[in-house]
Amino acid sequence: MEQQAKDIERQECDVLVIGGGPAGTTVAPFLTEKGYKVVVLEKARHPRFHIGESLLPANLPLFERMGIAEEVKAIGMVKPGAEFVSPHHDMAQCFEFADAWDKSMPYAYQVKRDEFDTILIRNAEKKGVEVHEGCKAKAVDFLPDNSGAIVRALHDDGRESEWKARFVVDASGRDTFLANRFQIKHRNPKHNSSAIYGHFAGAKRHDGQAAGNITIFWFEHGWFWFIPMMNDTTSIGMVTWPYYMKTIGDRNIEQFLMDGIAMCPALAERLKDAKLVNKVEATGNFSYVSERNHGQNYMLLGDAYAFIDPVFSSGVLLAMNSGVIGAEAIDTCLREPARAAAALKRFDALMKHGPKEFSWFIYRVTNPIMRDFFMYPKNIFRVKEALLSVLAGDIFGKTPIWRSILMFKVLYYIANIIQPKRAFMGWKRRNFNIRPVEVPAVYNA
Ligand SMILES: Cc1cc2nc3c(=O)[nH]c(=O)nc-3n(C[C@H](O)[C@H](O)[C@H](O)COP(=O)(O)OP(=O)(O)OC[C@H]3O[C@@H](n4cnc5c(N)ncnc54)[C@H](O)[C@@H]3O)c2cc1C
Repeated sequence: MEQQAKDIERQECDVLVIGGGPAGTTVAPFLTEKGYKVVVLEKARHPRFHIGESLLPANLPLFERMGIAEEVKAIGMVKPGAEFVSPHHDMAQCFEFADAWDKSMPYAYQVKRDEFDTILIRNAEKKGVEVHEGCKAKAVDFLPDNSGAIVRALHDDGRESEWKARFVVDASGRDTFLANRFQIKHRNPKHNSSAIYGHFAGAKRHDGQAAGNITIFWFEHGWFWFIPMMNDTTSIGMVTWPYYMKTIGDRNIEQFLMDGIAMCPALAERLKDAKLVNKVEATGNFSYVSERNHGQNYMLLGDAYAFIDPVFSSGVLLAMNSGVIGAEAIDTCLREPARAAAALKRFDALMKHGPKEFSWFIYRVTNPIMRDFFMYPKNIFRVKEALLSVLAGDIFGKTPIWRSILMFKVLYYIANIIQPKRAFMGWKRRNFNIRPVEVPAVYNA
């Protein structure tokens, strides 16, 4: 017992961050800039594969602020817009970010996450964050009297370390470190899908600037993403419902993905000369939310708090934005405890804002009436510009889109009233799609 106690390295810090993905590597440098001693624990070693490769225009001002804009530009494929391809309409519709309400954010990037996340974690180190890679947080004990927490971690060489921290940030992504321990993570009852994805070389791209556009292809059992990245790599993912996942039978996930692609002729055409270049992976039941995003001396950022669906490529933006607002709130908690409650209340409202705004569209995007809205967009009451601003992730600033977004929703509800049979069939189909079904164990994450 005595020997064991001696072997543990004990240290102290102001803020201990669990997870070195976009959320953790954003909150950490903003805190060192404010003068705190910050430690990030990352169980993997960068560069490491991660899914989530299509970024949003609203990410770019943040890259400027963090001083990494040039590095991201060097690895990023310029994405000027998002294309939706519908077999039900036999056509494609392209939305250009340059047409959004705020014309100053005309494009985003698509990035390989191993490269992007490496830029983020090295940037954190440069800004004075103490980063430990290959170091997995294993346990946390919150101390009485509001005096912080002890976090225990295991390094991949077998060493054990322990930090006494004034504040703990959970940025562990889908591992949901704290939400699991507190048992506050819940499957989202309004959404339920899975994804199977891989990288291809030789996929057919559009000409000119549109070569970097993300394409969303709807198909009978969900939708596909087509994300062009640098060096002729294209990420392809099939997002589908549990009932369809169950039909996998004896097929491996690579075969299942290929069979799905064959069911979507417009995508199959763009992949006819393409070759799979990495191992196909699958992620299941990715829609969840935690009951709370903070408590005494801790908070949950990015995917460690909630994740809904990748259709609007909002995950990285929401994770990094949570890092920015998290750093502000933690600073107030540590510097002016008397104002902590108000700061955390504001943090909570901002954390809920993103998932709420995106989920209204996410829950309806496979509905036939909503598909019509996407395929034949009209700009009455500037609803198209406002929708484009949402697609660009411009939902946290001062862009005055909200009246037009409300009009969009009103028009959508009116369309449902005018077409009750289609509305009912859409509602019935959605309930069928999202119901939980026992699926064979095919997931990596
Ligand atoms: C199928 C799918 C497709 C997606 N596509 C997109 C997209 O196109 N665009 C987009 O913006 N988003 C997309 N996302 C979402 C995006 O991947 C995430 O929202 C984003 O990565 C969240 O960042 P994060 O920092 O919260 O978590 P993560 O990026 O997951 O980072 C968490 C980090 O914590 C580490 N960690 C976990 N547990 C521990 C521990 N105990 N100790 C130490 N370290 C730990 C992990 O190794 C990881 O590096 C997609 C998600 C899915 C599931």
